Amino acid sequence: MVEKLNVAIVGGGISGLAFAIALSKSTSNVAVDIYEAASSFSTVGAGIGMWPRVWEIMEAYGLAEALGRQQVATPGIDGLFKYRRSDLPHGIQVGRGKVSMKSYHRADFLRVLLEHVPSHYKTHFSKRLATYDDDPEQESVTLRFTDGTSATCDVLVGTDGINAKELQQKKSKSCSITRRRHGLENRFIDTY
Ligand SMILES: Cc1cc2nc3c(=O)[nH]c(=O)nc-3n(C[C@H](O)[C@H](O)[C@H](O)COP(=O)(O)OP(=O)(O)OC[C@H]3O[C@@H](n4cnc5c(N)ncnc54)[C@H](O)[C@@H]3O)c2cc1C
Repeated sequence: MVEKLNVAIVGGGISGLAFAIALSKSTSNVAVDIYEAASSFSTVGAGIGMWPRVWEIMEAYGLAEALGRQQVATPGIDGLFKYRRSDLPHGIQVGRGKVSMKSYHRADFLRVLLEHVPSHYKTHFSKRLATYDDDPEQESVTLRFTDGTSATCDVLVGTDGINAKELQQKKSKSCSITRRRHGLENRFIDTY
């Protein structure tokens, strides 16, 4: 029997949960741990507007029906979009037409994602990654959390958000390491 790949997803926001769902559609040969710094998945937030390309991905994940029930009407948003550089006072119009954007409350969107993460994927709350060591000799990555605990994985997936620094600092180094056992080019998967 082929050994399961241990995947650690650090950050349980939109990216982390969406990645978990995508992974579950691709393979069953993984053991997944999701490490989230907060004490629960966050359901706070405002609106999320979903563009057609993102909607196609949601359909491919099998989320269309569940998301369809959560969609909210946003009268007036389907108008003309103007794009401008944020350092210029006036916009430069680059196109016009109806924008077919679907709107959700962020909490509803996250709830749908959560419902579709396989129940055998393990979630760990209050686990803020402090640092990690990528050890080619051991062929594993050691994760160290701010509470003093640690864990290991084969593949580390960084979905800790745009403001987080922990994973960004070391990614270029870890990307140069090749994993032989699973034939992976990189053991650090960057989702930014
Ligand atoms: C006001 C506002 C409006 C927006 N509107 C839209 C919109 O309409 N459409 C749209 O597509 N996008 C929108 N966005 C952007 C969207 O919210 C972000 O792109 C999205 O939340 C990014 O998801 P993420 O999972 O990458 O990061 P986050 O949502 O930031 O999630 C990162 C997760 O990682 C956890 N974490 C951080 N550091 C660590 C660590 N060291 N260890 C463990 N866990 C950690 C955090 O607690 C968090 O749960 C909006 C953003 C804002 C602020």
